[in-house]
Formats: sequence, structure tokens, C-alpha cells
Amino acid sequence: MDFRRLEEIDLSGKTAVVRVDFNVPRNEAGGITDDTRLRAAVPTIQYLRGNGAKTVLLSHFGRPKGEFKPELSLNFIVPALSEALGVEVTFIEKPSSEMIADLPVDAVVLVENTRFTSMETEGHPGMAQFLASLGDIFVMDAFSAAHRNHASSAVIGEYLPAYAGLAMERELDHISQALEYPKKPVMAIVGGAKVSTKIDLLKNLVAKLDKLVIGGGMANTFLHAKGHDVGGSLCEKDLKETALEILTNADKAGCKIILPIDVVAAEAFKAHAEHRVCGLDDVKAGEMILDAGPETVTQILDAIDASETLIWNGPLGAFELPPFDTSTVECAKYAAKQCKAGQIIAVAGGGDTVAALNHAGAADDFTFISTAGGAFLEWMEGKALPGVEILRK
Ligand code: AMP
Repeated sequence: MDFRRLEEIDLSGKTAVVRVDFNVPRNEAGGITDDTRLRAAVPTIQYLRGNGAKTVLLSHFGRPKGEFKPELSLNFIVPALSEALGVEVTFIEKPSSEMIADLPVDAVVLVENTRFTSMETEGHPGMAQFLASLGDIFVMDAFSAAHRNHASSAVIGEYLPAYAGLAMERELDHISQALEYPKKPVMAIVGGAKVSTKIDLLKNLVAKLDKLVIGGGMANTFLHAKGHDVGGSLCEKDLKETALEILTNADKAGCKIILPIDVVAAEAFKAHAEHRVCGLDDVKAGEMILDAGPETVTQILDAIDASETLIWNGPLGAFELPPFDTSTVECAKYAAKQCKAGQIIAVAGGGDTVAALNHAGAADDFTFISTAGGAFLEWMEGKALPGVEILRK
């Protein structure tokens, strides 16, 4: 993808307004329980400082719905960020260009929660213009916020030249390598609970892929549509026609759909519930399908062997409840192994996918794992992301 990169400009003496995502999880005592997003912002900030630029950081935190809420102030980020950077970060509640001009050339400023005004989520041009007045360039480094047309993540790009930050650059390079111009054959594994949340995604993927594995609870809807009795399984029967349409479209586009050929049926939705492997027409009324069976796993591993690129979103079964994590774990481990051996490019992201791949111990060997939820899914749906569009050349 052809987008503007920081390496293309002379940053010396400039002030960069940088959109990051500091929407980190916190425990009840207010401590940061996972600082992944905070650490993700460090390379760009260090790069800017190293090249003589002043940094003004913008982020949202939580959902204050346009009002000041003291418990959602971004102030708590300052100590952790200062420590991660090895430099004192200045927190500013109400910034002005004069205040920023008075700070040293390599200062790092964190501005208060952008969502304390509803102008942010409205994508209000007035707010975008004001934020733009704080610097000379805009740096978008929050892929996880790129699907929102908000003032600080997209609209600001209409008033300042916009560049991708280093985390964003890595994200865009990897995801475009997987779907825009992948090494073929390319396959995807799409699992998770419901078809209803992934209709657009499935429609987009069948038009682009060589193979598509449909797993998890959503596979039940497809099995039902094909005439199998799925007993008491999670199944969106009202989406039968949609499922059939997706299968027809896949057929027309030459995308092979891989659905379960055997399943693990259990009597209760809980860990270690009584269960058995059975055929598709052997699920009893009181049973529910909680995982794909071993023959299905073999089919998926064969598909991975025959592919050059793999995109993964969603678990293949109820992976939080062992042993119904088996097919997800086996396929994830195999994909990771093939990836490590240089046999395949594997990119994953969205929702529970990161948790499922971490659970399988497979995450480290994937080529790239996006921590963005909604933005990754919208990208898989083929939608233009406002925070990415502003970076295109
Ligand atoms: P999603 O957020 O759509 O990716 O869905 C993830 C959730 O789907 C996880 O919590 C899984 O436990 C759940 N899931 C996957 N397979 C099944 C299944 N066969 N029956 C019920 N839930 C499932």
C-alpha cells in the first residue's frame, strides 16, 4: 500500500501531533493490567524525538460520552509512559499552540482524553482544526482507532499533512501483504460465535480467497443451511438464506469453503462437559457442537500446507472451555510451526483471536498479530478506514 511514511520528511524543529491508542485495560485499583498499547507507541515517539521533533500525543480513553469524567482522565498514563520513554511527559488538560511552543524542542506532551467533548466522535471539523493548530504534521499511529471518522483520528488529516507512525506502518505493511497483494494461494480461517457479526467479512473474503475455513459457532449456521440437524447448538437459523448465498458466491468466485466434516458434541456448555466426536448427521437434540472434530482438523492442516498465506480471525470452537479448545490449538500450533519454518505467511487479528492464539502458545510465531479489534474486522470486510485513507499518497 502506498502511504506516507515518517522517513520521507525532515522532522527537525517540527511539532508532530500524534494519534495513539492509550485505551489500556485497568484494574479496580486503577493499575494498568496490559501495557501493550502503551509500549506500541514508544518507537514512534522515540523516532520523533531522535529526529528533533516535539511530540503532542492524542488519545481517547473509555467512553465518557462527550463529558469530563475524572475517572476517565488520561493523567494516569503519565508515570508509566515517562518510565517507558525515559523522559518526563508533560500532561496538558487544555492545550494551546502557545503552550506547546514554549516547551523544549524534544518535549513529549500528552493531551487530555479526546472524548471529553462530543466533537471528537462527531468528527467535528472545528475540533480537528483546533488539534491541527497544535502542530506542523499529523502522525497516525493508532490502527485500532483507524475505522472511526473521529476528529483526532481522521478528520485532522484534512488540515495537516498526515503520516503513518511506525506501529501503523508495520500494521499496514503486514495486513496489505495478507489481503491486498498476498502470495497465493491464500486462505482464511474465520471462526467465532455468530455469522451475523461477520456477514460483510465473509462476503468480501469469498471474492478474494482461494480457500475459506468457516468454524466455531458460526459453522453451525452453515451446517443447518445445508440440511444438517445441529441439535441444541448455537445456530442463527434466520440466516439460512444468507449462508446459502455466501456458499453460492464462493462457488462462483472459485473459493473453496471448508466446513466441519465431523464435530465434538457436548451435553453442556461448560469445561470438561460430557462429549463425543460424531458425524454431521449424528448430533442429538440435547447436544451442542462445541468444537470441530479430528477429521476436520486434518482437512484444515492440509489446506494450510497447500497455502502460501493465511489470515485468521476467530476461534474454531469454544476455546475457553477445555477440551473444546482442541481444534483451535492444533490448527494454531501447526500454522505457527509452518510460519516459523518459512512455509507460510500468517496474519491474525480481531476480537478473541489474540486470546485464542496466545492460549495455544502460537502467537509469537505468527508473522503478525494485529491487536486492533474493530479496525481489523473492517479491513477484512474490505471497507475503507478513514484513519488509513488520510495517509494514502
Ligand atoms: P467472536 O467474538 O465472534 O470471534 O466469537 C468468539 C467466541 O465464540 C468465543 O467466546 C467462543 O467460545 C465462541 N464459540 C466458538 N465456537 C463456538 C461453538 N461451537 N458454540 C458456542 N460458542 C462458540
